[in-house]
Amino acid sequence: MTSAHPGLIDRYGRRAVDLRVSLTDRCNLRCSYCMPPEGLPWLPKAEILTDGEVLRLITIAVTRLGVEEVRFTGGEPLLRPGIVDIVAGSAALSPRPRLSITTNGIGLARLAVPLRDAGLDRVNVSLDTIDPERFAAIALRRRFQDVIDGLSGAAAAGLTPVKLNAVLLRDVNDDEAPALLRFALKHGYELRFIEQMPLDAQHGWSRDRMVTADEILASLTTEFDLTPDPAERGGAPAETWLVDGGPAKVGVIASVTRPFCGDCDRTRLTADGQVRNCLFARGETDLRGLLRGGAGDEEIAQRWREAMWGKMPGHGIDNPRFLQPTRPMSAIGG
Ligand code: SAM
Ligand code: SF4
Repeated sequence: MTSAHPGLIDRYGRRAVDLRVSLTDRCNLRCSYCMPPEGLPWLPKAEILTDGEVLRLITIAVTRLGVEEVRFTGGEPLLRPGIVDIVAGSAALSPRPRLSITTNGIGLARLAVPLRDAGLDRVNVSLDTIDPERFAAIALRRRFQDVIDGLSGAAAAGLTPVKLNAVLLRDVNDDEAPALLRFALKHGYELRFIEQMPLDAQHGWSRDRMVTADEILASLTTEFDLTPDPAERGGAPAETWLVDGGPAKVGVIASVTRPFCGDCDRTRLTADGQVRNCLFARGETDLRGLLRGGAGDEEIAQRWREAMWGKMPGHGIDNPRFLQPTRPMSAIGG
């Protein structure tokens, strides 16, 4: 049974209007909470959607399924050679979706202006530390300055608000929340902390070791006055606070300790053309096969609706029978 509703709704009444598109599973960093040092067996090229196929699926999502926002991610999306054209093609759709990208920032200094000119609205840049040595210890590459340059390039190009995503790791950078916030305030970036989730390829996550939202907030309030943000949260994953009375804000995405599954409005497309109705889903729905088999747009749209109709009410991390998805975060698209 699926709903007769033309959009992407599920049996719990949630409607997906936010599409995350992974453009590649490859990456030029090796963040320890995401990938092993040696990398991963990358998806074979033949299985990766072409630029034209990605654009066709985005077109179906926007024009038939009610998707209003498209976020490009990966792996590292800036490694995708066709990214500027994919953004331009998405921006040409009617109705025009909001367009953003989640990136580690490497290459953004060079790409910020072309991406803006192609129609990109905003960027989220991941930065877990403002210490170059720690950066190298976490990401296993000496690319700290490239990220800093990428951030400045994005701000100068007007890809604002520039949001910063930070993951804190116990005994590695868990003392750095106030320093990261100082850095963000100084540059006008909007900082959000993300609780570490069980999505790493090495299965190294443990509930006892993760740094919780409560700990992050306790650490921030040693230096800053935080008051709940009166703005409507909607389907946004981040809970936000005004810093020292505002207007600056800080957010925490507490997927583990304060799940927001009841308000989830996401649908996900992997680089190899699989729809996932949740980051933590154990199943996925193949659109690439349909696409390459000659299916029409409405047939593909209907398969996508069916995939979303089966979405679980929550991720179930706290359930003793919880199993981590087979695909790691880098191949799903975070
Ligand atoms: N490479 C890009 C980047 O790092 O922004 C995009 C893909 S990355 C998978 C997207 C986001 O997921 C990043 O902000 C990253 O910090 C976050 N992430 C990766 N693994 C995670 C994990 N195990 N728990 C929480 N966040 C994670
Ligand atoms: Fe690469 Fe992003 Fe994963 Fe870091 S979090 S290894 S930058 S995909």
